Amino acid sequence: MSREAFVNGEYIEYINSKVHIEDRGYQFADGVYEVFAILNSKIVDYEGHIKRLNRSLKELKIASPIQKKSYKFHINEIIKRNIIQDGLVYLQVTRGVASRDFKFPKNSKSSIVIIGKNTPSNYYNNNFNKGIKVKTAKDIRWKRVDIKSLNLLPPVLAKQYAADNGCEEAWLLDDDGYITEGSSSNAWIVKNKTVITRPVSSSILNGITRSTLISSLSKVGYKFIERKFNINDIKDADEAFITSATQFVMPVIAVNNIKIGDGRVGEFSQLFKEIYFKYISLS
Ligand code: PMP
Repeated sequence: MSREAFVNGEYIEYINSKVHIEDRGYQFADGVYEVFAILNSKIVDYEGHIKRLNRSLKELKIASPIQKKSYKFHINEIIKRNIIQDGLVYLQVTRGVASRDFKFPKNSKSSIVIIGKNTPSNYYNNNFNKGIKVKTAKDIRWKRVDIKSLNLLPPVLAKQYAADNGCEEAWLLDDDGYITEGSSSNAWIVKNKTVITRPVSSSILNGITRSTLISSLSKVGYKFIERKFNINDIKDADEAFITSATQFVMPVIAVNNIKIGDGRVGEFSQLFKEIYFKYISLS
């Protein structure tokens, strides 16, 4: 069976899937996306992701290319056609195809692409058991990173910088030296049994995994604060971790080569991982 993608209303073989050279996503990064985790062939936290997709579209005044209720159908179709057990679905919408001009085209139709893939079995658990290393980098992104847009060059550069330094993720620093978030994840520390993460604003993406973990922590009555933190707080932290749809809860064992706690995956990361998985919605 070959892989299939959903491209502008059609299911086609992945290897033959194409978009137009004047798609505004390609020319201007004029589009938005979502990444859905798939577990047991079910979509994790569908409602949160679709709500954020609609918000991103609205903020950029991009029309939805399909009826709102059809998103779930097509995501499920991609899961079925590609036999995805545990993996992810990537969904992208752009303002469509038009002769290159900065202004919005008058009559373009939004483009949509949905692709999916399996992740190797035990990939997450193996990574979780090792934990990840983080490198800090300047946050050079635009001022509306609350919109999940295709404008991803700064996080691409930050992630590559982290990789060049033997790290798996970059934590981005604002002008005052506070961590905004990871290049593709939200950032968290734990100090004296209290979980700390930066409050939501236009300087971070309101992560769906973040929201689910926050509501799960409140359900079990766990102590939690939304505040900014900097490198001194990190040095002083007992534990650190990231959250994202593809990494769920992932422990951070070092930042800039400074060990967090004893430099091993800590008990709170383990606990929060369990709490998180207990409260995700699968649909
Ligand atoms: N922040 C950024 C910049 C991201 O790219 C992501 C991944 N989409 C996240 C946070 C985490 O968001 P989510 O939990 O919805 O995947």
